[in-house]
Amino acid sequence: MKQAAENLIEVNHLFKYFPVHGGVLRRVQGWVKAVDDVSFTIRVGETLGLVGESGCGKTTIGRSILRLIEPTRGQVLFDGQDLVAMKAKELKAMRRKMQIIFQDPYSSLDPRAQIGTIIGEALQVHGVRDAAERQERVMEILTKVGLAEDHIRRYPHEFSGGQRQRIGIARALVLRPSFIVCDEPVSALDVSIQSQVLNLLRALQREFGLTYLFIAHNLQVVEHISDRVAVMYLGKIVETADRIELYRSPLHPYTQALMSAIPIPDPTLERKRIILEGDVPSPVDPPPGCRFHPRCPSAMDICAQQEPALVEVEPDHHVACYLFHDVSTQGTG
Ligand code: SF4
Repeated sequence: MKQAAENLIEVNHLFKYFPVHGGVLRRVQGWVKAVDDVSFTIRVGETLGLVGESGCGKTTIGRSILRLIEPTRGQVLFDGQDLVAMKAKELKAMRRKMQIIFQDPYSSLDPRAQIGTIIGEALQVHGVRDAAERQERVMEILTKVGLAEDHIRRYPHEFSGGQRQRIGIARALVLRPSFIVCDEPVSALDVSIQSQVLNLLRALQREFGLTYLFIAHNLQVVEHISDRVAVMYLGKIVETADRIELYRSPLHPYTQALMSAIPIPDPTLERKRIILEGDVPSPVDPPPGCRFHPRCPSAMDICAQQEPALVEVEPDHHVACYLFHDVSTQGTG
């Protein structure tokens, strides 16, 4: 693990609720609690993997941090400055430093624009007026991501899926940010291409000193790239730990169930798969207490009554589960 002590990102009590409209007058009838009181940090130069099933709120966290969607409340400190409290002008200046790579590179690239225009647009928005300088910087970043300078005049449909994701990465990097949210960046790619793109992201991280929030549902992909991992369930973070520690000894019953589904390459070894009963409950009306209790094979009475806090149970290993702490330790994590 990298020994990076300082935090670049500090998320404190972040909430994002989406209104549910209904009836003839389309009044607000409830709230989807997509992110519900989440706190975590990302250290300078590290990759924090954020993992969980689809719909658990991980993409909403990534977008709320960057304020691509407005958080309901909470604090997001970027190098000590609160992004949530920033006015539009301040936020625009900060956007140079933080970018996003999307899951589906094709739908995020304008099909009518040449690659040079797509990548250079951010430079223009952020005040690089000289066209020759923009072109030079675009060509430089294209070669950094493994494309050729003459790709600058081509259109998105002329590229393969893997190349399009390289274009997405170049677009995110051209402003030389320090922080990137990678939102399922390899999920839409063939398995054979995934590791190439992951290796590219790691090489660029080393070269440019980048810090990543890497969002994915695939635990093997997260293991490949992360330094630390946070596991989400129904709008909450239930466990965070160093990658090696988490994959070797997951503590939260939900993390254990996720890990048990990872195939083992050695056919002589067998892992006992933990099958969870029932579906993921609705984030509109999440269960009281521990949100995982209706599906948890280890649930106790307290679990349905009171929500467990995320508590440090071993050095740098936090878990929200009464199996590892009791009510008296609530809020110490
Ligand atoms: Fe299971 Fe209770 Fe732990 Fe929740 S707090 S994961 S229900 S044992």
